[in-house]
Amino acid sequence: SRSTLEWQQLDSAHHVHPFTDPKALTKRGVRVITRADGAYVWDSDGNKILDGMAGLWCVNVGYGRQELVDAATRQMQELPYYNSFFQTATPSQIELGQALAEVTPPGLDHFFFANSGSEANDTVIRIARHYWHLKGKPNKRTFIARTMGYHGSTLAAVSLGGMPHMHALDKVLLPGFAHIMHPHWYTLGGTLSRSEFGIVAARALEDKILELGPDNVAAFIGEPVQGAGGVIDPPETYWPEIQRICRKYDILLVADEVICGFGRTGQWFGSQTFGIEPDLMPMAKGLSSGYLPISAVAMNKRVFEAVNEGGLLAHGYTYSGHPAACAVAIANIRLMQREKLVERVREDIAPYFRARLQELADDHPIVGELRGSGLLAGLQLVKDKAKRTIFTTEDDAANKCRDLCLDHHLIMRAVGQTMVLSPPLIITRAQVDELVSKVKIGLDLTARHFGL
Ligand code: PLP
Repeated sequence: SRSTLEWQQLDSAHHVHPFTDPKALTKRGVRVITRADGAYVWDSDGNKILDGMAGLWCVNVGYGRQELVDAATRQMQELPYYNSFFQTATPSQIELGQALAEVTPPGLDHFFFANSGSEANDTVIRIARHYWHLKGKPNKRTFIARTMGYHGSTLAAVSLGGMPHMHALDKVLLPGFAHIMHPHWYTLGGTLSRSEFGIVAARALEDKILELGPDNVAAFIGEPVQGAGGVIDPPETYWPEIQRICRKYDILLVADEVICGFGRTGQWFGSQTFGIEPDLMPMAKGLSSGYLPISAVAMNKRVFEAVNEGGLLAHGYTYSGHPAACAVAIANIRLMQREKLVERVREDIAPYFRARLQELADDHPIVGELRGSGLLAGLQLVKDKAKRTIFTTEDDAANKCRDLCLDHHLIMRAVGQTMVLSPPLIITRAQVDELVSKVKIGLDLTARHFGL
């Protein structure tokens, strides 16, 4: 096999990296990840690194699960590909629907398959607009989403999302998308209590609906906990109020479960943790634990019945319900059920993980707050804890902290000035201890760098 330097030279000769500043890549050189097991990955220098991000919030069952590999292998030998366009279906497509219906909230039991979270959200947009067209209200087209929401990287998904730096790349959004404030109490709550702020942030939806006119609004979409926008779990008053407003104005409610789904928050879906009853529920990542690309959109009876009676659904992908990806997703769900991973997160490991991180956050001079839910955590970096002053983009404390953690063999992600953790659901208490002690080293060294 090649040396690290050879890998790096070859990589920079041909590979354009997603969401990466090429200058930063040149400075440190790409780290080549060559293998993985459980909660760890290894790089091409043989370093063993604790994966605090479960890949990209997706390897929920951990690395090296042979039964997922076997499911893919068997399926690829038997039937590597067939589509579901020609009034056809394959056994693994059919059985994945059955397995999913066992774990999704009651009523959300029809599924459209795609390959990524972005495609799932494009599908949501098309299905919601199709739905209103079928209902005789074709003007109900606009989607309302939130600033700092992340829904993917296709042109429609990026317009749906509210990430300012992503909008800047294209300068303009597609028409038909509007955004309201994200429910981040720490930065936007002012003097309001958390629960008062939850209501205020949700009422921004009502204001936006009235501004646009309810007859022009198709749906509201939100992640139960905003992930890539900084792991923002809303106050407990927020989602019930959003739900009430959607019902009042007859707006479809979409819960983007791409990160929160499959046990991350201690229930199968974040909607269950936060008491949301969505009409449409896109999911990806944890659906196959990232072993193969696959996503799905769950729809409730109301949407399914309209779509089912609406004639041709002119939408789909060559790899909608790819047989091998479906086989892996079934094996993944069965494994999670057998090992009771969701219960384990809720009752054992997440409470421990959060208690350990909370101790660290309370004591640490550069941590303003711990956010998140279950095994999804964000640590807000601040330069003045008392005044809640967040580091600036120029300070770049979070990327500094990320690099320091990596030097100490922990993968932690920096989003804005928040440090993010989303470890595999199989992480043990001993591994949580290792993770927290490495996070502490990263934070201590970052604080020292800034003289704090
Ligand atoms: N929705 C959410 C909430 C996500 O976090 C992501 C990816 O991180 C996506 C959608 C897009 O998924 P993909 O990268 O698979 O297109």
